[in-house]
Parts: sequence; structure tokens; C-alpha cells
Amino acid sequence: MSRILVSQNIAGYLDQAGKILNYEQKEIEKLKEFDLLAEIPFNLILENGHELNLKAYRVQHNNWRGIYKGGIRFHPHVTLEELGNLAFLMTFKNALMDLPFGGAKGGIAIEPTRLSRIELENLSRAYVKNLQGILGPKKDVAAPDVNTNGQVMAWMLDEYQKITRNNSPAAFTGKFVEYGGSEGRKEATGYGGVYVLEKVLEKESVHFSEPLTVAILGFGNVGSHFAEAAGDLGLKIIAVSDIGGGIQNSEGLSWQEVKDYQNENGSVKDFPGAKNISLYDLMECEVDILIPAAIENMINQENAGKIRAKIIVEMANSPVTAEAERLLEEKNIILVPDILANGGGVVTSYFEWLQNQKAEHWSKDEVLAKLKERMERAFEKVWEAKQTYGVNFRLAAYIVALKRMLE
Ligand code: NAD
Repeated sequence: MSRILVSQNIAGYLDQAGKILNYEQKEIEKLKEFDLLAEIPFNLILENGHELNLKAYRVQHNNWRGIYKGGIRFHPHVTLEELGNLAFLMTFKNALMDLPFGGAKGGIAIEPTRLSRIELENLSRAYVKNLQGILGPKKDVAAPDVNTNGQVMAWMLDEYQKITRNNSPAAFTGKFVEYGGSEGRKEATGYGGVYVLEKVLEKESVHFSEPLTVAILGFGNVGSHFAEAAGDLGLKIIAVSDIGGGIQNSEGLSWQEVKDYQNENGSVKDFPGAKNISLYDLMECEVDILIPAAIENMINQENAGKIRAKIIVEMANSPVTAEAERLLEEKNIILVPDILANGGGVVTSYFEWLQNQKAEHWSKDEVLAKLKERMERAFEKVWEAKQTYGVNFRLAAYIVALKRMLE
């Protein structure tokens, strides 16, 4: 069943990986099909009595390697097509990370920052009411994504358990620790990206400034934890942004101070001791490493030619368009792909799912040590494929994942 098409960019990588590995094209075409596209209309009644007509979406791409797994996002840009691409990425990310999961993604097209707390809770519960039949710990395990968090997962799990009358903490991951979540989950995606970056720096001989400088586009969960781990590694964060604006200080920014300021004021904008900059200034600033950690397609043909970073680590999913990728390659900018760089989130979701099923609780040190080991193992596989086939990081990652899918 397939009503939506995978973006040409991603499909192109899959086709190239298939050719390199000598698979028949009909095998590759099967991987472009989707197992389920759910789109359920429902109404949300706001506190002022207004009614919003919404849709609960869930896309299940492929389960050859295991049950479906993927995040849920609340964002105005959510469409079935966008979720399809993201579900497809999840299938390959899970294969690359060697997890027993297939790929899925879900969401609702809404601006959740305009909702009150009770409205957000009702929205989260409505999502589960409408899709409970296809979700579950042995079917499809959801997790947080853009604008959803441990609280949203806790509401969703509570609703799921009420409906099914089962205790099933493994139905949702990314929960608060007190609610059965894993230690280290909220840090995992950002930290995982830094573990991969460390390996890239070890292998690639690029001339960098001393200390290495970093700019982060999207100082949310992933971006801020990336900043934290990068700071611990001795890297200097010189610019960060969120949807409200950007800030820069070439002397370096303390991730914790910026986070505290953002939590209090809603944005990093106007942070004392830094100058305000636009998102475009941030992308084009003189920096060694640029981290897109917001949403899709933020690096595109309009701005890619102006980027001066030497490495881009894709912490968001699909932050670089196909046209931009070609421009970056011409400039020899190293691109570390999303399915490798941000795989730490789903790896730790897997740890949470395991802990829930075994009724265990692992310490944060244990989780992070296991995460580091998984990220490094995935990196080594990708590096090996990159060297063997003489391809870029993204194609190498698809080669490793595709081999796992088909063999
Ligand atoms: P988040 O909502 O916590 O943070 C997103 C950040 O991006 C915020 O600072 C927000 O202000 C900013 N942003 C959003 N839209 C923007 C725009 N149009 N322009 C500029 N800034 C914008 O989300 P997150 O969980 O940190 O996820 C960020 C990205 O990482 C997403 O692409 C997500 O799919 C991907 N990702 C997240 C995880 C995870 O574990 N949370 C795992 C893998 C991938």
C-alpha cells in the first residue's frame, strides 16, 4: 500500500545504495512502499469554547526488522507527506543503529504553543483515543519529537492504559523518569550526536580553529544537549538560535546560562552578553561546525552557498535539501547525515522499551555508556562502507542500513 511518495532525494540515495550493493531494483521499490497511512479527523474544544478541526496522523512505513517505532510531533507544517519521509528515515535509522524496530512517525498539524496546558493534555489524549488500535508496546511504540516531550508521552501513556486496561509502560518512550522513562533519554539525541562528531574529528583531517567553534540552529531539546556535551568536550559554542531569534558571542556561550534564560523568557533572544543575530547570520557565521537542530529543509539553495562551516552535523531530520547538499559537496563541507547523527534518541528509546519490559531501571552512567558504544559501532560501520565504496557519509549510512534490511 503506498499513497505517498518518498522524497526524490531520499529515494535517490536508496537507489544508489541498491546499485552499489547489486540488489535488484524491484527489491528497492518494495522499500518505498508504506504499510499504513492513518489520517483520523477529530475536534478539539478549546477552553474558550472554540472548536478546532484536526487530524491525528500516523504513518507506518516498514516492519521487516521489528515493530514500528517513531516520534509524534505537534507542528503547523505536519502533513502526511512529511510524516511519510520521516517514517521512512526511521526505518533506515533503526536498521543503521541495529535496533529490532521498523519505522513510523505521527503528528498533528497545530501550533501547540498557543494551547493552554489543559488543551495540550486534551490534544495528547485525543491523539491516542483516535489511534489506539494501531499503537502499543508490541505494535508501534511512539516517542517525543518536535513540540512533544516527557509530559505529552505521560498523558498519552495514561490514556492508552485507560483504554486498554493494561499496564503497558513500554507503549511510549521518552517518558519522564518518574513515569517509567529511562535515565539519559532527554540528553540522548544531543549527546549521541557529539559521540559521532568525536569520531568524525578523529578520522577526518580538517584544519580547524583552536578551540573548535560551534553554531546551533534550534536550541531545543536536541540542540541544547548537543551544546552541553560539546562544551564538555572543549568545543566553544559561539551562536545559538530558536524560533524567536539568534544570539552570538565569539568568546563563547554557556549552554546552561542560555537555557535558563530561554526557560524564563521563552527565547534566547536578548540574552545578556551576546548580540542578537538573525537565523541567516547564524547559518553564515565563521564557525567550524554548524548544527541544524530545528526542522526540515532549513539549509537550502538560498543559503547553502554562504555557509562557512567545515562540518555540518544533521541533528534535525532532513535539515538539508538535495540542492543544498550538492552545493555543500562542491565546497567540500563534510555532512554527517541525520540517520547516523541523531540516532541516539531512538537507541535510548530502545533501552527504555527494554527496561520497561524487564521491569529494570538502569543508571544514567550505564545508559550513556551503552549509548556511546552503539553510536561508535554505527559510526565504524558507516566509516568502513565510506572507505570501501568511496562514497560520502550519507550514502555510506544507507548502504549499511540497506544491507541490514535486505540480508
Ligand atoms: P524541540 O521542539 O525541543 O526544539 C526545536 C528547536 O527548533 C526549538 O528551539 C525551536 O524554537 C526551533 N525551531 C522550530 N522551528 C523553527 C524555525 N522555523 N526556525 C528556527 N527555529 C525553529 O525539538 P527537538 O526534540 O529538539 O527536535 C529537533 C529536531 O531533532 C527535529 O528535527 C526532530 O525531528 C529531530 N530529532 C529529535 C529527536 C529527539 O530525541 N527529540 C531525535 C531524533 C531527531
